Amino acid sequence: MRSLSEKVAAIAPSATIEISNAAKRMAQEGVDVISLSIGEPDFDTPAHIKDACIEALRRGETHYAPSAGIPALTGAIAGKISRENGFAAEQDEVIVTCGAKDAIYEAMEAVLNPGDEALILDPAWVSYEPCVRFAGGSVRHHPLSVGTFQVDDTLLEAVGPRTKMIVVNSPSNPSGAVLDWGSLQLIADICRDHDLFALSDEIYEKLVYGKEHISLASLDGMAERTITVNGFSKAYAMTGWRIGYAVAPRPIIRQMEKVQQHTISHPTTFAMFGALAALQGSQDCVEAMRREFERRRDYLIPALRDLGYATAPADGAFYAYVKVDGDDMAIARSWLRDAHVAVTPGTAFHSPGWLRVSYATSMENLEEAVGRIARV
Ligand code: PMP
Ligand code: GLU
Repeated sequence: MRSLSEKVAAIAPSATIEISNAAKRMAQEGVDVISLSIGEPDFDTPAHIKDACIEALRRGETHYAPSAGIPALTGAIAGKISRENGFAAEQDEVIVTCGAKDAIYEAMEAVLNPGDEALILDPAWVSYEPCVRFAGGSVRHHPLSVGTFQVDDTLLEAVGPRTKMIVVNSPSNPSGAVLDWGSLQLIADICRDHDLFALSDEIYEKLVYGKEHISLASLDGMAERTITVNGFSKAYAMTGWRIGYAVAPRPIIRQMEKVQQHTISHPTTFAMFGALAALQGSQDCVEAMRREFERRRDYLIPALRDLGYATAPADGAFYAYVKVDGDDMAIARSWLRDAHVAVTPGTAFHSPGWLRVSYATSMENLEEAVGRIARV
């Protein structure tokens, strides 16, 4: 076979997905493996959301839709943003995508030219860098403050002549940290002073514990330069539905819509009706799941500390980020081999020496996993 694309060959597979695949394979082979490796709510999608999708299917919503998404949904998202996130959004500043991941990819395609640099704050989720590189851009990594996982003045030193975008993710996957007002102010100042775009991935906004989520676009002068990414996977336990969205200035949305038209056309039509019901229905289900994640966090973090591990703040999302002595890849391998507990090594998030432990699983699994970790 002739050689394949060098650009794609140079990109690593998604560590989060690969490790969870490996855990699933072990389970199929009969190994009693506990997977704390993937960030996926273990709850079922709430019934009223499923019912709305089924009704849409029965009604015949099985055809092509407008490429930015069904108008009822883009309108509902614009309303939600204007009501909850502290900045105003019009319907034509919204695009519905196949998951938040697709919104991130399309945003990179829409904004970056070859050679443009995106600044990524580490530890960072696994897919930002690949999306930048698929779009032909390059990446500069900059660490968040040790211990607090907030932004400090050193961020300014990382801005170079090719920097065009800063990627922000709060609440954070993998650290669980929630960026405070001061951190967001620093980012906003740098974006305004250096005429940078920001991509603000807020997919975990509903999963915060005792802290306040602040949207970057709500800060002065930021709505005009921020692509806010969000979706239904985490808040409504809808990972398999593949519905996310971006809110951004019209010229950016228009570019993203072209990418969408030529690749996926739009997300699945009847799935969008489920997402609409998620936004329009009672939000009690979101709060019930948030409370359950908080209960698990309140068990897991002290349990890991009792075993002698230091952990990151864990103020949001559903991850414990655990400091380990030694090679995180080797330790993750040994936990899987000897304890049958799957976790994701920090190296995957550009922060060696840490392990990400997802608590999006039952309390029983968490208790069993802690017992097994204690034994190894
Ligand atoms: N951003 C972050 C930080 C995530 O953890 C995930 C999880 N998959 C995504 C984006 C993508 O979510 P979606 O399932 O909506 O594509
Ligand atoms: N975002 C989740 C995680 O980090 C799901 C897998 C993925 O899309 O990376 O585990």
